Amino acid sequence: MTETVSFGYEDVAPDEKTRRVGGVFSSVASRYDLMNDAMSGGMHRLWKDRFVRRVKPRAGEQILDMAGGTGDIAFRLAAGGAGVTVADINPEMLAVGMERARKRNVEGLIWTEANAETLRFADRSLDAYTIAFGIRNVTDIPAALREAHRVLKRGGRFFCLEFSTTVWPGFAEVYDAYSHRVVPQLGKALAGDPDSYRYLIESIRRFPDMPAFEAMIRAAGFAQTRVEPIAGGLVAIHSGWKI
Ligand code: SAM
Repeated sequence: MTETVSFGYEDVAPDEKTRRVGGVFSSVASRYDLMNDAMSGGMHRLWKDRFVRRVKPRAGEQILDMAGGTGDIAFRLAAGGAGVTVADINPEMLAVGMERARKRNVEGLIWTEANAETLRFADRSLDAYTIAFGIRNVTDIPAALREAHRVLKRGGRFFCLEFSTTVWPGFAEVYDAYSHRVVPQLGKALAGDPDSYRYLIESIRRFPDMPAFEAMIRAAGFAQTRVEPIAGGLVAIHSGWKI
């Protein structure tokens, strides 16, 4: 039997998922930032601010922002003087990010194409690893978590910001209606691509809930794992330490 993974609500072969996810982000790259504001009413900015406050980046640290896309997290991490590498599998997303950095006069970031499942960084070479709204798009999530653990120094920290499952009573129904009806319409109107936004919503639904994902982080070797739900778990910050 061939092993399958979820691509939204479909189950597909692993290579097929990687290829299709590539297609989604190549398609949305130029409208990605606009759509984030439109879909979240600007809330993603506050979630990202909070996320980076938790990371507590310090000058002189080496931080990898994996699946860094158009640079939102990296710009925040670098503001305090940390050395930041933005890695992403998708060259179109990175190109948008590099152009944004140029327009904002943000210098010193390293931009590199990489698959989270197989990193070129040496063992124990980084102080922190961040991944925001990226992990659910990765085909082999356990492999990516093991790589995060491998490249961190002892005492290094792992932080993941991702959509999760809200536990607020009544909210799930409203959110369901919004995400399945409104988001693809927004995707159509603003990005000319309802299917990509349908995938993004479906991928959120298929992602493990908070206890299950925390268990995956522990299974990769991290200690003192923690989950911080935001908006009842609509979004969550998962973290852990390499000791
Ligand atoms: N971190 C950015 C942010 O918060 O705005 C971008 C998030 S975007 C929703 C997801 C990103 O994950 C895309 O840029 C996509 O190319 C990247 N991605 C998907 N699979 C990946 C993989 N296996 N390795 C590295 N990046 C990946």
